[in-house]
Amino acid sequence: MAQTNAIHAPSAGAPLEPTTIDRRELRPNDVLIDIQYAGICHSDIHQARGEWGEAIFPMVPGHEIAGVVSAVGSEVTQHAVGDRVGVGCMVDSCGECEYCTAGSEQYCVKGNVQTYNGVGFDGEPTYGGYSQQVAVQEHFVCQIPEGIGLDVAAPLLCAGITTYSPLNKWNVGPGKKVAVVGLGGLGHMAVKIAAAMGAEVTVLSQSLKKQEDGYKLGAQHYYATSDENTFTDLRGSFDVILNTVSAEIPVDAYLGLLRVDGAMVNVGAPGTPLSYNAFSLIAGNKVLTGSLIGGLPETQEMLNFCAEHNIGAEIETISADKVNEAYERVLNSDVRYRFVIDTATIGQS
Ligand code: NAP
Ligand code: ZN
Repeated sequence: MAQTNAIHAPSAGAPLEPTTIDRRELRPNDVLIDIQYAGICHSDIHQARGEWGEAIFPMVPGHEIAGVVSAVGSEVTQHAVGDRVGVGCMVDSCGECEYCTAGSEQYCVKGNVQTYNGVGFDGEPTYGGYSQQVAVQEHFVCQIPEGIGLDVAAPLLCAGITTYSPLNKWNVGPGKKVAVVGLGGLGHMAVKIAAAMGAEVTVLSQSLKKQEDGYKLGAQHYYATSDENTFTDLRGSFDVILNTVSAEIPVDAYLGLLRVDGAMVNVGAPGTPLSYNAFSLIAGNKVLTGSLIGGLPETQEMLNFCAEHNIGAEIETISADKVNEAYERVLNSDVRYRFVIDTATIGQS
């Protein structure tokens, strides 16, 4: 066991505070990572505040981890000391079921082991990336290509893959019109990635406050959803709508913006139900679907894609003592566009 500095939420909704945690001895197929940056995902806030139901406390959030390998177990073959690596939302799965063997470990029939707020197959709780070191089974560790800084790479491990995967699956590319709902951490990655895939991208945001940013990120069009005309003007426009909003939205209104055969993919995960009218789908052979992060092969593919297209997250780097403030700012949609913790500052104050 080795101790590492960390930040934890002692109980649901309590402010986060510094602590120390034990990390396991390296197993033969483990990689030890010196974490340099940890992104703050809205899922961290949902879970630290107990919004998704039962959770494990104290909780060390963080599933957007970027760092450098500092030691490897005796059987590790894919990573070496000094490699720049990342870890996302999962740290284990059964490895044997039809989904794991197909590279969709997130849908493991035994349930994937979440990076934090999870329980490993050894019965031990998992603690996430708001810390300075973590031991992770090598299969769940990705290589961060040269050319992407570790700070702007960290958010790719959740926000990047969560948007890349459905855009890929729904064949977003040249000739396709895509709307991204919500311009936050996931939304801004979706705009960059969909634009790099060659699609015509529209941002649907609550207001026009971030319009200039939206264009810089690669969107061609930008509309405020607070303006009712948006829903009449854009009726029947989009092949794909990617909803990244962390709260309830009027699903029927958005389904009305799809073309016949279009798909609305929900990745936003509010703790309360979304509802829709069956006719909103029937009337245009439309698809309403969801998507959970992405498997390991696709996560590496996404990192390589981002490196090729010179894509990283737009970040605001913070020290550890600013985490609670950052949470409030995310909740107020005051994030441009991902907070990233410089983990060297954990344990300094
Ligand atoms: P975020 O940075 O807070 O972005 C969410 C954006 O949604 C906000 O910036 C805001 O954009 C918009 N929004 C917020 N409240 C709203 C409201 N009441 N009505 C309408 N729009 C609102 O959060 P994130 O980190 O991108 O995460 C977004 C959601 O995805 C969270 O629920 C998170 O848990 C979930 N998530 C899911 C997966 C998955 O695998 N499916 C993975 C990661 C995260 P505007 O100001 O532009 O409107
Ligand atoms: Zn996340």
